[in-house]
Amino acid sequence: MNPFTYIRADNQDTAVKSVAAGKTKFIAGGTNLLDLMKEGVEQPNQLVDITRLELEKIEGVNNGLSVGALVKNSDMANHPTIRKRYPLLSEAVLAGASPQLRNMATTGGNLMQRTRCYYFSNTAMPCNKRLPGSGCAAIEGFNRIHAILGASPECIATHPSDMCVALAALDALVKVKGPKGERFIKAADFHRLPGNTPQIETELQPDELIVAVLLPESPFAENSHYLKVRDRQSYAFALVSVAAALEMDNGTIRMGRLALGGVAHKPWRATEAEKILDNAKANEKTFQAAAEAAVKGAKTYEHNAFKVEMVKRAIVQALSAAAQGTGVRS
Ligand code: SF4
Repeated sequence: MNPFTYIRADNQDTAVKSVAAGKTKFIAGGTNLLDLMKEGVEQPNQLVDITRLELEKIEGVNNGLSVGALVKNSDMANHPTIRKRYPLLSEAVLAGASPQLRNMATTGGNLMQRTRCYYFSNTAMPCNKRLPGSGCAAIEGFNRIHAILGASPECIATHPSDMCVALAALDALVKVKGPKGERFIKAADFHRLPGNTPQIETELQPDELIVAVLLPESPFAENSHYLKVRDRQSYAFALVSVAAALEMDNGTIRMGRLALGGVAHKPWRATEAEKILDNAKANEKTFQAAAEAAVKGAKTYEHNAFKVEMVKRAIVQALSAAAQGTGVRS
């Protein structure tokens, strides 16, 4: 591990000023960053501890909810208001990692976690994300877990988060603070596609701090479902995942939201599929059509072609479960 200095920020302004200098990283739960530092993938020369910034509140804002950036994943998933009004988010967070990791990992850290592409964390292999211009070992390598949508010749990695897939479906906003003040980024737009700069993964500027996630008032509490398909039932990243949210009216879908995990460099909002869901009857035919629309344009590699059929089936299953209801009465 490279030598680095450690400082603790007392307030948000100090934190923002500190991160603007050199190769500096914020640290809170550290569940991803410390692993990457030990592997030599991340090499900051300074860590700024932000755990004293008092960003652990979950509170009502404008009929929605604000979740502080330092709220632990387990606290978010088990918060009574989130379980009642945003069960999709609770399900997604509980599908991620392990109880021990969820007790340490934070909301902001979950947004900033990095790909689990095998070659990214293996410094002996070429990787454009880790070392721009070095090549992509996954394209001709073992690419079973890699992207089928939105990838580029530079990078075919997937985003590993479950929480972020639900946030994209729920039209959440990410509140960030930088030297020029606060701004909001749509959760669905927070992560980027790789293009020819796969090393730039989010819209967050290097001198900005995530302050909170804002959940708007949601009509989806009664009809949503998060479905994750993985190699084992716990402590595994998604091969594919689906966040399905429906606003129902007597068997008809007034509005549908569909986001996918494990298929792209970012949580993937299936907007063409959503157009099919809106104002359609909630039945198998509609769900099949939405699934077909969601994978239109998919490009597969030697080992991941199975994901196309897998995600289609997962979409139909998640939408069917959402239509049947969560049992939540808001
Ligand atoms: Fe690196 Fe992306 Fe290629 Fe993986 S897929 S080796 S992260 S460039």
